[in-house]
Amino acid sequence: MRAAVFTGHGRPLAVRDIDAPEPDPEGVVVETEVCGICRSDWHAWQGDPLWESRGLEDGHVLGHEPAGVVVDVGEDVEQVREGDHVTVPFNLGDGTCPSCRNGHSNLCDNRLPLGLAPESPGAFGEQFHVPWADFNAVSLPDGVAPIDMAGLGCRFMTAFHALVHRADVTAGDWVAVHGCGGVGLSAVHIADAVGANVVAVDLFDEKLDIAAGLGAVETVNANAVEDVPEEVAAITDGGAHISVDALGIAETCRNSVRCLRKRGQHLQIGLTSSEEGGEVSLPTDLMVANELQFVGTIGMPRPRYDEIFRMLAHGKIDPAAMVSETVSLDQTGEKLASMTDFETVGIPVIDEF
Ligand SMILES: [Zn+2]
Ligand SMILES: [Zn+2]
Repeated sequence: MRAAVFTGHGRPLAVRDIDAPEPDPEGVVVETEVCGICRSDWHAWQGDPLWESRGLEDGHVLGHEPAGVVVDVGEDVEQVREGDHVTVPFNLGDGTCPSCRNGHSNLCDNRLPLGLAPESPGAFGEQFHVPWADFNAVSLPDGVAPIDMAGLGCRFMTAFHALVHRADVTAGDWVAVHGCGGVGLSAVHIADAVGANVVAVDLFDEKLDIAAGLGAVETVNANAVEDVPEEVAAITDGGAHISVDALGIAETCRNSVRCLRKRGQHLQIGLTSSEEGGEVSLPTDLMVANELQFVGTIGMPRPRYDEIFRMLAHGKIDPAAMVSETVSLDQTGEKLASMTDFETVGIPVIDEF
């Protein structure tokens, strides 16, 4: 099968013919119809902190935001059938460890990050493998096109879990979102859908325009103001109730904490890059004095997809609205490289393999 493979950190991806995956006894093989290209792929490609020790080798397949059709089923799989249209959470769980049994499969003791670790090849190719398929394969509801689902394996569901499960967002709250890439725009859209007033912050007007179209009532171009937290505090009359760092660089992380009102909650979605090395210093005295909370959040537990589907079915959220462009497998490496300078807008999706 054709796949866009890793050839070394920071080196261009190469499109090659490689062996198609075979299903484990508990796994299935899916023919890829779409796969989003995400900043997490970029971090892994760069060898940033969370991934550098994982030792990706030449020939590894990245890609963790797919949807497609099941074409081969392992002998012990009981519920997934050939022909099923499925997506998967990028944080694959085994379904049996204490975390999975308690509803937190995003924190599975044996979790595999699809495409982001050597033992878990991803979906920048014609087919991909889903381990523990009865637990991880998420059937697409009728009438949902695969392209609508490309963000549901990662960015959209990550933003949903952060805002809906990890924070206490209530109608009328001010939610600030720092960084309007794919996950940031998803956060804007979801916060609006649950009744919050959203302030979107980015360096690019083009991304802020999209944020406004997705429901942000105020936008701040960080290049155009002296001090982002002061600007957000002025707009929100005292600071945001919830603030999201959807990028993961020291500046957006600190701005997010500093723009909170008293007792506010900071949501850390973005993982850091090599510059931060996995650590960011924070205004701890301010956090103590104002009783601020710092909340880490990753992915979404598999059992909670139904909440998204119920909102989707009634038009309250539209994950496809974040999909900005479709590309071919041959363009994947180029698209990934353009993330270095934050040139991608919204969620680019591969739909031609
Ligand atoms: Zn992703
Ligand atoms: Zn588990």
